[in-house]
Amino acid sequence: MIVKSTVVILHRYAYSDSSWVVKALSAHYGVLSFLVKGGKQARYSFKNALSPLAMSEVVFNKSSKSDLHFVKEATLLEWFPQMQSDLEALAMAQVMAEIVLRYAPSYLDLDKEFDLLVQALTQLNEPPYSPSVLVDWLFNMNSLWGYSIATACCIKCGGELTEAPADFFLDQGGCVCKNCCNHFSPKANPLFLKDLWHYNQNKPIEKIPLMEKAFFMYLQNHSGAEREIHSLQWLKEVRKICSV
Ligand SMILES: [Zn+2]
Repeated sequence: MIVKSTVVILHRYAYSDSSWVVKALSAHYGVLSFLVKGGKQARYSFKNALSPLAMSEVVFNKSSKSDLHFVKEATLLEWFPQMQSDLEALAMAQVMAEIVLRYAPSYLDLDKEFDLLVQALTQLNEPPYSPSVLVDWLFNMNSLWGYSIATACCIKCGGELTEAPADFFLDQGGCVCKNCCNHFSPKANPLFLKDLWHYNQNKPIEKIPLMEKAFFMYLQNHSGAEREIHSLQWLKEVRKICSV
């Protein structure tokens, strides 16, 4: 069956001396794998359209017998040039792509995941982008996959928070208010708790990496899949380089 779909390229790896396997997120067909024969050759026509983090329209032969489909045509729709040339933005995008690849459910209809990813890549492509693009995306992905993070209400009494939460219980679903917290010193980092309060009020976050880490661990914890995301380490290194 010949099918046309808009995709975001998530990952590409060598399959042989001349071919690639390309993984892509499609709104209607979920995460797809394409075998791109001859893709590594300089004269291959659709190279740019099948490069990581490009958004493209792909015409492919959807196999019913195999998970590997053959690309017939690919047209580049958006290359996100500003994002691709900004080391930190690119590293954040790589984290998102890897998380989609390793955590996305295997059902077909991933249109909301597709929209959230394209929205985040578009934001990263428009400098100066908000530093919390990855935080927001992780927060939304948790909600989308059924693991909403309680940042506005207390998970114990259900009351709306009127100040910074007294603690954050990752395994129980989020923030706890002062009245419901039966220990004096919070287990969560106080800076993170302060940032949760700021986040809740749409104010800038000070310790972005702390919140990214917490929201990613939240996803790991609630999905029950402790799959490592290697790009997170790369993002950390990139930030170190950029801050020098
Ligand atoms: Zn409470």
